[in-house]
Amino acid sequence: MIIKILCSIVCVLPLLGAIEDYDDNVWPVVVLGAGPAGLNAALYAVRGGFPTKVLTGPLKGGQLMGTTAVENYAGVKKIQGGELTSIMEEQAVEFGAEVIDDAVTSVDLGQWPFIIRTENGLEKKVFALIIATGATPKMLGVPGEETYFGSGISTCAKCDCRFFTKKDVFVVGGGDSAIEEAMHLSAYANSVTVLVRGERMRAAHLMKEKLIGYPKIRVQLHTQVTQIIGNGKKVTHLELLDALTGRKTMVKADGLFLAIGHKPHADLFKGQLELTEHGYIVCKERSQETSVPGVYAAGDVEDPYYRQAIVAAAAGCKAAIDAGAWLRKMGVTEDVLDKYRK
Ligand code: NDP
Repeated sequence: MIIKILCSIVCVLPLLGAIEDYDDNVWPVVVLGAGPAGLNAALYAVRGGFPTKVLTGPLKGGQLMGTTAVENYAGVKKIQGGELTSIMEEQAVEFGAEVIDDAVTSVDLGQWPFIIRTENGLEKKVFALIIATGATPKMLGVPGEETYFGSGISTCAKCDCRFFTKKDVFVVGGGDSAIEEAMHLSAYANSVTVLVRGERMRAAHLMKEKLIGYPKIRVQLHTQVTQIIGNGKKVTHLELLDALTGRKTMVKADGLFLAIGHKPHADLFKGQLELTEHGYIVCKERSQETSVPGVYAAGDVEDPYYRQAIVAAAAGCKAAIDAGAWLRKMGVTEDVLDKYRK
């Protein structure tokens, strides 16, 4: 405890000195990423009185842009993913956030203010950084996958299970996610087949045991999807390879759910922030604070479990509240902020 208190005093002292001198190269709050986590963080930060910039990164809008109808975002009955993102952006901008089409290329979190550099050649000092860079679902890379993504192929059973009512669907993957996806789907689908490429599922024993209570779910080992076939509008069949015999078969399929892992966009922070063994940013207890005070993370870049737009948005809200509280504690007063308000 004493060490903790000493550390925070040592951290605070240089900061208080630094913010007394106005430096117009400072962006007080910077949010990286313009998906639900980033845009909601920006909304809360700017409404909290902090001049806030959002750097969109390469995939503006995040994974919502790749989905079609969103029906599970509280308060909105049905909306296209892209439209939901645009509304979030409009709302944040209306309150004064600035959304910039640029991507961060490097960060220096070893000094304060933190330094960020961007693709467009900017180098800025930052008082508080909120990382909401998201994650990308891994893809199989087989023929038909790009064509039918969103038309029978999905990476989110919680989002899309209703569209597969009484259908025959497949899940690829042998981890905990594959089991969860299959369990969600079984409430709607006629049958769910989990395709596992190896000789066993790597999912936790307890998760595998749960499958016993789901008669509609069948697990098929040693099987790889080699091609996804459709009628031009939606998936109709899968070509499967039996890894033991080398034989290929064609099976009728209404849908295919990919649960082969995600890649969190956190490579930029390796060596500067604590990451999990799977590369997700570690947040402290119930907060969005990372291992570096003043740096926060929100959404799929720190959450390997829920991966829902509404959860990401809520994490963005928490990150902005955490960042605001920290900045106030660090002496970033109204007087200081006034200098950065246009
Ligand atoms: P994992 O990395 O644990 O599993 C990915 C699975 O996909 C593996 O079975 C892997 O096969 C398979 N796979 C990878 N590439 C391919 C491919 N090209 N073709 C076919 N199969 C492939 O990812 P998860 O998303 O399942 O889990 C990520 C983390 O989140 C884990 O730590 C997990 O425990 C956690 N989690 C926990 C949950 C819970 O506690 N309820 C729910 C969901 C996730 P192979 O095994 O052969 O490598």
